[in-house]
Amino acid sequence: MTGPRRAVRATDSFHEGGIMDRRRVLGLAGALGAAAALPGLATARQKNEGQPAKARGRYRRIATEEAFATQPQLEGYRDIGKYLTQGADFNFTQILLGDSEYAKRQTPRLLDIGEGRIAQMDADGVDMQVLSLTSPGVQVFRPDTAIAIARESNDILAEAIRRYPTRFAGLAAIAPQDPKHSVVEMERAINQLGLNGFIVNSHTNGEYLDEEKFWPILEAAEALDRPIYIHPRSLPEEALGPFRPYGLGGAAWGYAVETGTHGMRLLFSGVFDRFPRLRIVLGHMGEGIPYWVYRFDHMYATAKRNWGTGSLKEPPSFYLKRNVLITTSGMFSEPVLKYCIEVLGADNIMWAADYPYQDSREAADFLDSARISEADRIKIYSGNAERVFHLKT
Ligand code: MN
Repeated sequence: MTGPRRAVRATDSFHEGGIMDRRRVLGLAGALGAAAALPGLATARQKNEGQPAKARGRYRRIATEEAFATQPQLEGYRDIGKYLTQGADFNFTQILLGDSEYAKRQTPRLLDIGEGRIAQMDADGVDMQVLSLTSPGVQVFRPDTAIAIARESNDILAEAIRRYPTRFAGLAAIAPQDPKHSVVEMERAINQLGLNGFIVNSHTNGEYLDEEKFWPILEAAEALDRPIYIHPRSLPEEALGPFRPYGLGGAAWGYAVETGTHGMRLLFSGVFDRFPRLRIVLGHMGEGIPYWVYRFDHMYATAKRNWGTGSLKEPPSFYLKRNVLITTSGMFSEPVLKYCIEVLGADNIMWAADYPYQDSREAADFLDSARISEADRIKIYSGNAERVFHLKT
């Protein structure tokens, strides 16, 4: 057994004290309190409270959408004003560089892919993080800058993984601005650096991966047998207008519209007929897509029948189940999890917290206590990630 797993058990103890452990005790007390009214439910909860600690010898908690930043990336953002002076992407990059309380807390945590992060993972019960360069990554830069910063950041990531091989895995940043060079970096990232997949922060200058110019990237991911994680970023400026009021352009709604639209374009475009073994990962329980399965299949078939549109070999949901995995990042809702298991199957769901933007311990408490089968819990915590990202077990 590895050190990290022992650490997880130690911090899980009710006797360790601290806010998190008190919260777990309260959760258990709540479950016990429900026993009188709902005996069946309470029994299931009590059972699950006990099982993960025992089961932890058999599986790891692998978090699959965990953000980090590099100095070259932040330095690039410092210069971004030379060619990008407004808009949501500009604003977010400047927030990370600023001196707000938010930046003072988050930016150092993003930059730390060493001991500080490991200590936080131990405290939160996270065995492994699959790291990715924080959004919007390199996709806001000019192509030559994007290529250089992606390469340097991937080297930094690979070095952190070499230092902590049981605690970190990583997704390579690529610069879709230059699809041909992206393929070179993808091959280097897997074959030389030993990274585990790729991160693309949704659109690149308002363009999406289904477009033919990006097919070399999809082809390379399929050939290398590593997934592309499509992570949220802001909608393109020209689409952002209706989302500006009330802060709806961000994580509350706009990111899911943007990233869900990217996913729908891939599903409807036929790229999964062309690249049948390509795998895409979507966070936030699939960015809303699983909820729409009935309607988009129905409407796709209706349009095909009436107007002869669409050339997919199968209904769109077929590709959702075959080619797409979703993660729990920032969506710690038991009803949504159960729905997604029913519609997509537990083999297509991976655990993620979205550190440091979300609380990893909350993410673990959510999946520990979810009333799902133990077999499904193990797949979601570790089995699926180990398979899809080729992690050493
Ligand atoms: Mn994220």
